[in-house]
Amino acid sequence: MIVIKFGGSSVATSERISKVSKIINSYASDRPLVVVSGLGGVTDSLIDAGNAAAKGISPERTIEKIIKRHLDVIEELHLTPRVIEAEIRQARRLYREISWGGALRPKALDAMMSFGERFSARIVAATLVRDGVEAKAFDAYDAGVLTDSNFGNAEILEDTHRRIRDFVRKTRTIPVVTGFIGKDRNGNITTLGRGGSDYTASVFGAAANAKQIQIWTNVDGIMTADPRVVSNARSLGAVTFMEELELEYLGSSTLHPRGIIPAMNKGIEVKIMNTLNTGYRGTLITEDIRASRRIASITQKDGITVVKARKKGRSDEGDLFQKASSALSRRNLAVISMMTSRDSITIVLNNAGEDAVRKLAGELEGIGIVEIVGGLSMVSVVGKAMGSMQGSLGRMVSALGNTSSFAVISGESGMSKSIIVSGKEAKKAVRLLHMEFFGE
Ligand code: ASP
Ligand code: MG
Repeated sequence: MIVIKFGGSSVATSERISKVSKIINSYASDRPLVVVSGLGGVTDSLIDAGNAAAKGISPERTIEKIIKRHLDVIEELHLTPRVIEAEIRQARRLYREISWGGALRPKALDAMMSFGERFSARIVAATLVRDGVEAKAFDAYDAGVLTDSNFGNAEILEDTHRRIRDFVRKTRTIPVVTGFIGKDRNGNITTLGRGGSDYTASVFGAAANAKQIQIWTNVDGIMTADPRVVSNARSLGAVTFMEELELEYLGSSTLHPRGIIPAMNKGIEVKIMNTLNTGYRGTLITEDIRASRRIASITQKDGITVVKARKKGRSDEGDLFQKASSALSRRNLAVISMMTSRDSITIVLNNAGEDAVRKLAGELEGIGIVEIVGGLSMVSVVGKAMGSMQGSLGRMVSALGNTSSFAVISGESGMSKSIIVSGKEAKKAVRLLHMEFFGE
């Protein structure tokens, strides 16, 4: 069997849902299990409604608009509104409870957010039936997904795998399963974090030992750079799991952060496909290191801060590194890199709050002169050859010409090298690196 997952943009309109039905149909002989996101933009609207409710504004208007959008899609697809009748009733009941209940708890927000996927799974299944395919919608928790109670960012529990296998064994028709949601042991609905449907698909694929997991999205897979930045960026035929993880870490956001882990652990290949360009052959994410290119992609990660401290004069203030490490461990700061020399230390931080950085700087001031530079970006060259390629950092630095760099990082994974540049120059830097490593 294979798992086929469609993201929000793939099911955003009635035309696209009809197209999705055709795509699923074309894989009918592979025994597909389908995972769907909510219709594009619905999760955001549901969150807006939830936030409004928390402020005492009735979410009724927003929710009714969301319901209307789904009913319109149902009408355009010539389906009966009965397919989501029960969920509409539950959604209405919930927003009444929330508006009466005052401050919105994460638990209520998760229940609210679940309707996006619950509506869409039913609409997609009904469209398949309309097109002559035997299909049935399932909420992920009725197909085996059990999570912890970390509302908003729940983790799927191990027991889920056995439950999914039972579910798959028993199910005869094509299941259309809701992505993104689950239930905890107390029966509360939970969500897996934004973009979590990838994770759902990966867990189903791993549990059921699928031949392949397909992630259908709205771009031509993983590319040599963000095509909005580099107009001649190209699609990659394949990357390894490790490269994909490195790309995620360095700022490319094709998949949910936990999205490929279950598939990777089981060695199940993942293919990224494009619903808007069905002729595209897809990017394969595989274990097979021979399949990938030596250099895969240029990435950009924003929100970087560099903190530098230099010892004053000849004063002996003890080990700079030790002092900085203990200051860092007291704060909740994500360190990307830390470089030391005899008399200075450079710390590269990811998404650090201003307050935390100021406090860190305060502590380091005891040691010497501290300099903070915020609003930076990290541009990286990613690929399996980066660790062994002679002079690659030098090539990067000279490709960047007169772009000022604030730090240079030789990725410890052996799969990337990075340069910290000013946020304003980041796009230009990505274009220059793309030119250097992929040609014009
Ligand atoms: N609908 C959810 C979101 O927008 C989950 C997903 O799309 O994967 O975050
Ligand atoms: Mg979505």
